[in-house]
Amino acid sequence: MTSILRIVLAVVSALAGLTALYLIRSPGSIANAKAIELGAVTLLIAATLLSTVWDTLRAARPAAEVLPTVSADVSDGSPSADPVQSEVSKLLSLLRQHAEANENFSTVLERAKEELHESLKTEQVRIIISYLMIENDKMKARTSNLQASLETSQKQIEKLKTNLANAEAQGLSDPLTGLKNRRGFDVVLASQLATARNAGQPLSLIIADIDHFKAINDRYGHPAGDDVLKWFAKVLSSNVKGRDTVARYGGEEFAIVLPATPLDNASRVASQIKAQLEAQFWQKPGAPNTLLRVTASFGVAQFTPGEGTSALVARADSKLYEAKQGGRNRVAA
Ligand code: GH3
Ligand code: MG
Ligand code: MG
Repeated sequence: MTSILRIVLAVVSALAGLTALYLIRSPGSIANAKAIELGAVTLLIAATLLSTVWDTLRAARPAAEVLPTVSADVSDGSPSADPVQSEVSKLLSLLRQHAEANENFSTVLERAKEELHESLKTEQVRIIISYLMIENDKMKARTSNLQASLETSQKQIEKLKTNLANAEAQGLSDPLTGLKNRRGFDVVLASQLATARNAGQPLSLIIADIDHFKAINDRYGHPAGDDVLKWFAKVLSSNVKGRDTVARYGGEEFAIVLPATPLDNASRVASQIKAQLEAQFWQKPGAPNTLLRVTASFGVAQFTPGEGTSALVARADSKLYEAKQGGRNRVAA
Protein backbone atom coordinates (compact mmCIF):
# COMPACT_ATOMS: atom_id res chain seq x y z
CA MET A 1 0.00 0.00 0.00
CA THR A 2 1.44 3.42 -0.95
CA SER A 3 1.94 6.07 1.70
CA ILE A 4 -0.53 8.44 -0.06
CA LEU A 5 -3.25 5.81 0.18
CA ARG A 6 -2.40 5.30 3.85
CA ILE A 7 -2.71 9.05 4.52
CA VAL A 8 -6.06 9.21 2.67
CA LEU A 9 -7.33 6.26 4.70
CA ALA A 10 -6.14 7.85 7.92
CA VAL A 11 -7.90 11.15 7.10
CA VAL A 12 -11.14 9.32 6.12
CA SER A 13 -10.96 7.28 9.31
CA ALA A 14 -10.38 10.35 11.45
CA LEU A 15 -13.31 12.21 9.83
CA ALA A 16 -15.56 9.18 10.19
CA GLY A 17 -14.56 8.82 13.82
CA LEU A 18 -15.21 12.49 14.59
CA THR A 19 -18.62 12.31 12.85
CA ALA A 20 -19.47 9.25 14.89
CA LEU A 21 -18.55 10.95 18.15
CA TYR A 22 -20.45 14.07 17.22
CA LEU A 23 -23.56 12.08 16.33
CA ILE A 24 -23.45 9.97 19.47
CA ARG A 25 -22.74 12.76 21.92
CA SER A 26 -24.85 15.63 20.38
CA PRO A 27 -27.80 14.12 18.58
CA GLY A 28 -29.76 17.44 18.67
CA SER A 29 -30.23 17.91 14.91
CA ILE A 30 -31.57 14.44 14.13
CA ALA A 31 -34.07 12.25 15.99
CA ASN A 32 -32.31 10.52 18.94
CA ALA A 33 -32.65 6.85 17.94
CA LYS A 34 -31.70 7.56 14.33
CA ALA A 35 -28.60 9.46 15.48
CA ILE A 36 -27.44 6.63 17.71
CA GLU A 37 -27.93 4.10 14.91
CA LEU A 38 -26.06 6.27 12.40
CA GLY A 39 -23.33 6.97 14.95
CA ALA A 40 -22.92 3.27 15.67
CA VAL A 41 -22.48 2.35 12.02
CA THR A 42 -20.04 5.20 11.42
CA LEU A 43 -18.10 4.30 14.55
CA LEU A 44 -17.74 0.68 13.40
CA ILE A 45 -16.56 1.78 9.93
CA ALA A 46 -14.12 4.24 11.50
CA ALA A 47 -12.76 1.65 13.89
CA THR A 48 -12.29 -0.95 11.13
CA LEU A 49 -10.57 1.57 8.84
CA LEU A 50 -8.35 2.81 11.64
CA SER A 51 -7.42 -0.72 12.64
CA THR A 52 -6.52 -1.59 9.01
CA VAL A 53 -4.35 1.51 8.64
CA TRP A 54 -2.76 0.84 12.03
CA ASP A 55 -1.98 -2.80 11.13
CA THR A 56 -0.49 -1.78 7.78
CA LEU A 57 1.71 0.89 9.34
CA ARG A 58 2.85 -1.47 12.12
CA ALA A 59 3.65 -4.26 9.65
CA ALA A 60 5.79 -1.83 7.63
CA ARG A 61 7.89 -0.92 10.70
CA PRO A 62 11.39 -2.40 10.69
CA ALA A 63 11.61 -5.47 12.94
CA ALA A 64 14.54 -4.05 14.92
CA GLU A 65 12.30 -1.23 16.19
CA VAL A 66 10.10 -3.70 18.02
CA LEU A 67 12.59 -6.17 19.48
CA PRO A 68 15.97 -4.50 19.00
CA THR A 69 18.11 -6.53 21.42
CA VAL A 70 17.05 -10.03 20.42
CA SER A 71 17.14 -9.16 16.74
CA ALA A 72 20.67 -7.75 16.99
CA ASP A 73 21.88 -10.93 18.67
CA VAL A 74 20.55 -13.27 16.06
CA SER A 75 20.90 -11.54 12.73
CA ASP A 76 23.04 -8.84 11.23
CA GLY A 77 20.36 -8.14 8.63
CA SER A 78 22.20 -9.82 5.78
CA PRO A 79 20.57 -12.80 4.06
CA SER A 80 21.84 -16.01 5.61
CA ALA A 81 22.16 -19.52 4.22
CA ASP A 82 22.20 -21.01 7.74
CA PRO A 83 18.92 -22.94 8.06
CA VAL A 84 18.95 -22.74 11.87
CA GLN A 85 19.40 -18.97 11.83
CA SER A 86 16.72 -18.58 9.19
CA GLU A 87 14.28 -20.64 11.31
CA VAL A 88 15.10 -18.58 14.40
CA SER A 89 14.56 -15.36 12.41
CA LYS A 90 11.18 -16.70 11.21
CA LEU A 91 10.22 -17.45 14.82
CA LEU A 92 11.29 -14.01 16.03
CA SER A 93 9.31 -12.37 13.27
CA LEU A 94 6.22 -14.38 14.30
CA LEU A 95 6.66 -13.41 17.93
CA ARG A 96 7.10 -9.77 16.96
CA GLN A 97 3.89 -9.82 14.95
CA HIS A 98 2.07 -11.41 17.86
CA ALA A 99 3.50 -8.87 20.30
CA GLU A 100 2.26 -6.07 18.04
CA ALA A 101 -1.18 -7.65 17.70
CA ASN A 102 -1.31 -7.92 21.50
CA GLU A 103 -0.37 -4.28 21.82
CA ASN A 104 -3.15 -3.33 19.38
CA PHE A 105 -5.64 -5.39 21.32
CA SER A 106 -4.62 -3.72 24.60
CA THR A 107 -5.12 -0.32 22.98
CA VAL A 108 -8.60 -1.38 21.84
CA LEU A 109 -9.44 -2.48 25.39
CA GLU A 110 -8.10 0.78 26.83
CA ARG A 111 -10.23 2.75 24.37
CA ALA A 112 -13.31 0.72 25.27
CA LYS A 113 -12.62 1.29 28.98
CA GLU A 114 -12.52 5.05 28.41
CA GLU A 115 -15.76 4.93 26.40
CA LEU A 116 -17.64 2.82 28.94
CA HIS A 117 -19.18 4.97 31.63
CA GLU A 118 -22.45 4.78 33.56
CA SER A 119 -24.27 7.43 31.52
CA LEU A 120 -24.04 5.35 28.31
CA LYS A 121 -27.26 4.13 26.80
CA THR A 122 -27.88 0.41 26.33
CA GLU A 123 -27.56 0.78 22.56
CA GLN A 124 -24.18 2.49 22.93
CA VAL A 125 -22.91 -0.24 25.25
CA ARG A 126 -24.15 -2.86 22.78
CA ILE A 127 -22.16 -1.19 19.99
CA ILE A 128 -18.97 -1.07 22.05
CA ILE A 129 -19.41 -4.73 22.99
CA SER A 130 -19.97 -5.71 19.34
CA TYR A 131 -16.81 -3.86 18.43
CA LEU A 132 -14.88 -5.63 21.20
CA MET A 133 -16.20 -8.98 20.05
CA ILE A 134 -14.98 -8.32 16.50
CA GLU A 135 -11.53 -7.41 17.86
CA ASN A 136 -11.54 -10.43 20.15
CA ASP A 137 -12.33 -12.75 17.21
CA LYS A 138 -9.45 -11.21 15.25
CA MET A 139 -7.14 -11.78 18.22
CA LYS A 140 -8.29 -15.39 18.60
CA ALA A 141 -7.60 -16.05 14.92
CA ARG A 142 -4.14 -14.49 15.21
CA THR A 143 -3.33 -16.55 18.32
CA SER A 144 -4.36 -19.81 16.69
CA ASN A 145 -2.30 -18.92 13.58
CA LEU A 146 0.68 -18.19 15.78
CA GLN A 147 0.24 -21.48 17.61
CA ALA A 148 0.17 -23.41 14.32
CA SER A 149 3.23 -21.55 13.02
CA LEU A 150 5.12 -22.15 16.27
CA GLU A 151 4.36 -25.87 16.08
CA THR A 152 5.62 -26.02 12.48
CA SER A 153 8.75 -24.12 13.46
CA GLN A 154 9.37 -26.38 16.43
CA LYS A 155 9.16 -29.46 14.20
CA GLN A 156 11.51 -27.83 11.70
CA ILE A 157 14.02 -27.02 14.44
CA GLU A 158 13.85 -30.58 15.80
CA LYS A 159 14.58 -31.88 12.27
CA LEU A 160 17.51 -29.49 11.86
CA LYS A 161 18.90 -30.52 15.25
CA THR A 162 18.74 -34.21 14.27
CA ASN A 163 20.38 -33.51 10.89
CA LEU A 164 23.11 -31.52 12.59
CA ALA A 165 23.78 -34.25 15.17
CA ASN A 166 23.92 -36.87 12.38
CA ALA A 167 26.29 -34.76 10.30
CA GLU A 168 28.52 -34.19 13.34
CA ALA A 169 28.53 -37.90 14.20
CA GLN A 170 29.35 -38.80 10.58
CA GLY A 171 32.25 -36.34 10.56
CA LEU A 172 33.71 -37.98 13.66
CA SER A 173 33.21 -41.63 12.79
CA ASP A 174 34.81 -44.14 10.44
CA PRO A 175 32.31 -45.48 7.88
CA LEU A 176 34.04 -48.87 7.52
CA THR A 177 34.23 -49.94 11.17
CA GLY A 178 31.69 -47.59 12.76
CA LEU A 179 34.34 -46.58 15.32
CA LYS A 180 35.43 -43.01 15.94
CA ASN A 181 37.82 -41.78 13.26
CA ARG A 182 41.01 -39.81 13.85
CA ARG A 183 39.07 -36.56 14.38
CA GLY A 184 36.69 -38.30 16.78
CA PHE A 185 39.69 -39.76 18.62
CA ASP A 186 41.30 -36.31 18.94
CA VAL A 187 38.08 -34.87 20.39
CA VAL A 188 37.65 -37.73 22.90
CA LEU A 189 41.30 -37.79 23.97
CA ALA A 190 41.40 -34.01 24.55
CA SER A 191 38.23 -34.10 26.62
CA GLN A 192 39.16 -37.23 28.62
CA LEU A 193 42.63 -35.87 29.29
CA ALA A 194 41.17 -32.62 30.64
CA THR A 195 38.83 -34.63 32.89
CA ALA A 196 41.69 -36.82 34.14
CA ARG A 197 43.83 -33.77 34.83
CA ASN A 198 41.06 -32.02 36.78
CA ALA A 199 40.14 -35.13 38.74
CA GLY A 200 43.81 -36.08 39.35
CA GLN A 201 43.08 -39.52 37.90
CA PRO A 202 45.25 -41.72 35.65
CA LEU A 203 44.49 -42.18 31.94
CA SER A 204 46.15 -44.61 29.55
CA LEU A 205 46.35 -44.97 25.81
CA ILE A 206 46.85 -48.13 23.72
CA ILE A 207 47.84 -47.94 20.06
CA ALA A 208 47.36 -51.24 18.20
CA ASP A 209 48.65 -51.96 14.70
CA ILE A 210 47.81 -55.10 12.70
CA ASP A 211 50.95 -57.05 11.79
CA HIS A 212 51.84 -57.51 8.12
CA PHE A 213 48.49 -56.18 7.02
CA LYS A 214 49.83 -55.29 3.59
CA ALA A 215 50.49 -58.98 3.02
CA ILE A 216 46.84 -59.78 3.93
CA ASN A 217 45.67 -57.29 1.32
CA ASP A 218 48.08 -58.66 -1.23
CA ARG A 219 47.06 -62.25 -0.61
CA TYR A 220 43.28 -62.01 -0.17
CA GLY A 221 42.46 -58.73 -1.89
CA HIS A 222 41.52 -55.27 -0.63
CA PRO A 223 37.83 -56.11 0.16
CA ALA A 224 39.02 -59.01 2.34
CA GLY A 225 41.45 -56.59 3.99
CA ASP A 226 38.49 -54.33 4.74
CA ASP A 227 36.70 -57.26 6.34
CA VAL A 228 39.74 -57.96 8.53
CA LEU A 229 39.63 -54.34 9.69
CA LYS A 230 35.94 -54.65 10.64
CA TRP A 231 36.57 -57.94 12.43
CA PHE A 232 39.59 -56.50 14.27
CA ALA A 233 37.51 -53.46 15.35
CA LYS A 234 34.93 -55.82 16.90
CA VAL A 235 37.63 -57.76 18.78
CA LEU A 236 38.95 -54.50 20.26
CA SER A 237 35.49 -53.19 21.18
CA SER A 238 34.48 -56.44 22.88
CA ASN A 239 37.49 -56.16 25.21
CA VAL A 240 36.84 -52.71 26.67
CA LYS A 241 34.39 -51.18 29.14
CA GLY A 242 31.70 -48.62 28.32
CA ARG A 243 33.75 -45.63 29.46
CA ASP A 244 36.68 -46.58 27.16
CA THR A 245 36.83 -45.37 23.56
CA VAL A 246 38.09 -47.42 20.60
CA ALA A 247 38.98 -45.44 17.48
CA ARG A 248 40.41 -46.15 14.05
CA TYR A 249 43.47 -43.97 14.18
CA GLY A 250 44.24 -44.52 10.48
CA GLY A 251 44.76 -47.41 8.02
CA GLU A 252 45.26 -50.57 10.10
CA GLU A 253 46.14 -48.66 13.23
CA PHE A 254 43.69 -48.36 16.14
CA ALA A 255 43.72 -46.48 19.46
CA ILE A 256 42.00 -47.14 22.78
CA VAL A 257 41.54 -44.36 25.34
CA LEU A 258 41.20 -45.77 28.85
CA PRO A 259 40.12 -43.18 31.45
CA ALA A 260 40.78 -43.86 35.14
CA THR A 261 43.20 -46.65 34.14
CA PRO A 262 46.85 -46.88 35.24
CA LEU A 263 49.54 -48.29 32.92
CA ASP A 264 49.50 -51.83 34.41
CA ASN A 265 45.77 -52.26 33.83
CA ALA A 266 46.02 -50.85 30.30
CA SER A 267 48.85 -53.31 29.53
CA ARG A 268 46.65 -56.09 30.83
CA VAL A 269 43.85 -55.03 28.44
CA ALA A 270 46.32 -55.02 25.52
CA SER A 271 47.66 -58.47 26.47
CA GLN A 272 44.13 -59.80 26.73
CA ILE A 273 43.35 -58.58 23.19
CA LYS A 274 46.61 -60.08 21.91
CA ALA A 275 45.73 -63.43 23.52
CA GLN A 276 42.25 -63.38 22.04
CA LEU A 277 43.63 -62.72 18.57
CA GLU A 278 46.02 -65.64 18.96
CA ALA A 279 43.18 -67.91 20.00
CA GLN A 280 40.94 -67.34 17.01
CA PHE A 281 40.91 -67.02 13.24
CA TRP A 282 39.52 -64.52 10.80
CA GLN A 283 37.35 -66.29 8.27
CA LYS A 284 37.17 -64.92 4.76
CA PRO A 285 33.53 -64.03 3.92
CA GLY A 286 32.04 -66.64 1.57
CA ALA A 287 35.07 -68.94 2.00
CA PRO A 288 34.63 -71.00 5.21
CA ASN A 289 37.88 -72.84 4.60
CA THR A 290 39.97 -69.73 4.29
CA LEU A 291 41.05 -69.05 7.86
CA LEU A 292 43.76 -66.68 8.93
CA ARG A 293 45.40 -65.95 12.25
CA VAL A 294 45.74 -62.18 12.54
CA THR A 295 48.13 -60.69 15.09
CA ALA A 296 48.82 -57.14 16.18
CA SER A 297 51.43 -55.14 18.07
CA PHE A 298 50.54 -52.81 20.95
CA GLY A 299 52.13 -49.67 22.40
CA VAL A 300 50.85 -48.51 25.80
CA ALA A 301 51.46 -45.24 27.67
CA GLN A 302 50.00 -43.55 30.73
CA PHE A 303 49.45 -39.80 30.76
CA THR A 304 51.87 -37.93 33.00
CA PRO A 305 50.96 -34.58 34.61
CA GLY A 306 51.91 -31.60 32.47
CA GLU A 307 51.78 -33.66 29.28
CA GLY A 308 49.47 -32.78 26.35
CA THR A 309 47.64 -35.10 23.96
CA SER A 310 50.34 -35.13 21.27
CA ALA A 311 53.10 -35.98 23.74
CA LEU A 312 51.02 -38.88 25.09
CA VAL A 313 50.27 -40.18 21.57
CA ALA A 314 53.96 -39.88 20.65
CA ARG A 315 54.98 -41.97 23.67
CA ALA A 316 52.38 -44.68 22.92
CA ASP A 317 53.53 -44.62 19.29
CA SER A 318 57.17 -45.07 20.22
CA LYS A 319 56.18 -48.04 22.40
CA LEU A 320 54.35 -49.49 19.39
CA TYR A 321 57.52 -49.09 17.35
CA GLU A 322 59.37 -50.94 20.13
CA ALA A 323 56.85 -53.82 19.91
CA LYS A 324 57.25 -54.01 16.12
CA GLN A 325 61.04 -53.92 16.41
CA GLY A 326 60.90 -56.61 19.11
CA GLY A 327 59.33 -59.06 16.64
CA ARG A 328 55.60 -58.05 16.47
CA ASN A 329 52.63 -59.77 18.17
CA ARG A 330 53.61 -58.21 21.49
CA VAL A 331 52.79 -55.48 24.00
CA ALA A 332 55.29 -52.74 24.92
CA ALA A 333 54.53 -50.42 27.84
P1 GH3 B 1 53.59 -53.84 9.99
O1 GH3 B 1 53.53 -55.18 10.59
O2 GH3 B 1 54.97 -53.26 10.06
O3 GH3 B 1 52.58 -52.93 10.55
O4 GH3 B 1 53.29 -54.02 8.43
P2 GH3 B 1 51.97 -53.68 7.67
O5 GH3 B 1 51.99 -54.40 6.38
O6 GH3 B 1 50.81 -53.93 8.54
O7 GH3 B 1 52.07 -52.12 7.50
P3 GH3 B 1 52.25 -51.26 6.23
O8 GH3 B 1 52.25 -49.85 6.74
O9 GH3 B 1 53.43 -51.69 5.41
O10 GH3 B 1 50.94 -51.51 5.39
C1 GH3 B 1 49.68 -51.08 5.79
C2 GH3 B 1 48.72 -51.40 4.70
O11 GH3 B 1 47.37 -51.13 5.09
C3 GH3 B 1 48.95 -50.61 3.44
C4 GH3 B 1 47.60 -50.08 3.05
O12 GH3 B 1 47.32 -50.31 1.70
C5 GH3 B 1 46.67 -50.87 3.91
N1 GH3 B 1 45.46 -50.13 4.23
C6 GH3 B 1 45.34 -48.90 4.79
N2 GH3 B 1 44.04 -48.56 4.91
C7 GH3 B 1 43.31 -49.60 4.41
C8 GH3 B 1 41.91 -49.85 4.25
O13 GH3 B 1 41.06 -49.05 4.62
N3 GH3 B 1 41.54 -51.04 3.70
C9 GH3 B 1 42.46 -51.95 3.30
N4 GH3 B 1 42.01 -53.10 2.79
N5 GH3 B 1 43.77 -51.74 3.42
C10 GH3 B 1 44.20 -50.58 3.96
MG1 MG C 1 50.55 -52.82 10.37
MG1 MG D 1 50.60 -49.18 10.34
